[in-house]
Amino acid sequence: MPNSIRARIIIDSRQGRRSDLHSVHGLSLFIEAYDRYILFDLGPADKYLIENSERLGIPLDLLDTAVISHSHSSHAGALGGLGWVSPYLDTYIPYDTMQHLGIVAKKNGLRPIEVLDWKELWPYIYVTPPIYGPPWEHFLIIRTNKGLLVFSGCTHPGIDKVVSVLKEKFTEQTKLYGWIGGFHLSNAPRSVVAETVDKLEALGLELVVPLHCSGRVMSELLSSTSIRVVEAGVGDTIDIPI
Ligand SMILES: [Zn+2]
Ligand SMILES: [Zn+2]
Repeated sequence: MPNSIRARIIIDSRQGRRSDLHSVHGLSLFIEAYDRYILFDLGPADKYLIENSERLGIPLDLLDTAVISHSHSSHAGALGGLGWVSPYLDTYIPYDTMQHLGIVAKKNGLRPIEVLDWKELWPYIYVTPPIYGPPWEHFLIIRTNKGLLVFSGCTHPGIDKVVSVLKEKFTEQTKLYGWIGGFHLSNAPRSVVAETVDKLEALGLELVVPLHCSGRVMSELLSSTSIRVVEAGVGDTIDIPI
C-alpha cells in the first residue's frame, strides 16, 4: 500500500510559485491514488488544461479516468482537449447532462458515463451519487486508514448534504479525514463562512485544502482552527499522508 495520495493542481485561480502557468477561474486536479491516475475536473478551456499539464509534466495520456464534478463551465470546459490527449477515456459526467456534456464528450472521442448512484471505481475510490445544489454535483471519495478524503468541485449542495450522503454509505468508516477543493464561499457573508468552518472542525477533519472558489475569508478563519490547512495554487503538489 502506498503511504500517500498526491494531488497536483493543474488549474486554479490561485497563482502558485510558477509564473509560466495559466492561472484562471476553474479547477482541475491530477490525483494519484492507489496506483490510479484520476483527473478531477477539467478547468474552463482546452488551452489551460493542455498547456499547464505539459508544463508540469503531467501525463494526461496515462489517465485511468476523469470525473467532472458538475456542469459549470469552469469545471467542464476542456472536453475537447481531454479527448485529444486521452481518447476513449471513461469520463464521469454530472447527472442529467448526457444531452449536452455527454454529446460533447462523445464527439471528442471520450466515453461519457452519467453519474446516477454510488460508484466504486476501484477499491477505496468512489464517486458519490448526484447531490443537488443547484446544480447536481458529485464528489470523489477516497478511503484511507485515516478516514475519508473528499474531493470537491464547488460544494454547491453545502457540506451538510454531502456528509449525510457519506454517512449513509460508510456506516463504520465515517471519520472524515480531509477535504480538498472548492467550497463556494468567496462571495458569502463572513457569518456563513464562519458557520462552515465551525462545521468542518466539528466533523473532526484533520486536513482542509481550500481551492478555487473558497475565498480568502475561509482561509483566514480556517487558520485559527485545529485543522491543518494547506494553502496551495496552480502548479502545486499536495501529498496527503495516509
Ligand atoms: Zn464555485
Ligand atoms: Zn460551480
